[in-house]
Amino acid sequence: MIIMTRKLVAENWRLEKARYALVGNFCKKCLGYHFPKKQLCLRCKTSEHLEEYKFKHEGKLLEWTKIYDPAKGFDFAGPYYYCIVELEEGIKITTQLKYVTDEGRLKYGMKVKLVFRRLFSHGNEGLNTYGFKAVPVY
Ligand SMILES: [Zn+2]
Repeated sequence: MIIMTRKLVAENWRLEKARYALVGNFCKKCLGYHFPKKQLCLRCKTSEHLEEYKFKHEGKLLEWTKIYDPAKGFDFAGPYYYCIVELEEGIKITTQLKYVTDEGRLKYGMKVKLVFRRLFSHGNEGLNTYGFKAVPVY
């Protein structure tokens, strides 16, 4: 279990900027965005024109589903909604959809904002992974 915990801590450290600050890349040549951050632009196949980019914390709701039987580690949150969000820059991400008080008010394309929350827990070791969740803007 110690090895798994160390691996997890290392992974969290490596992905810290993406998860904690919503940082990816912008290519000044093809004007494309990448998330998570890439070493090379996927279109231009070079790193020459890439710069770090902090995504806006807003987008639109594309799809959602309700999870009634949460996977291990997500049991604190279940049942919960999971969704696809298109950020203002056009990048699509998947994340939990929080604070849904009335599912009937959810609409395709409605505005959502991204908030920083606990994503999941790892066993009883007190280790949590944090990141962004979507919240509907009614
Ligand atoms: Zn490019």
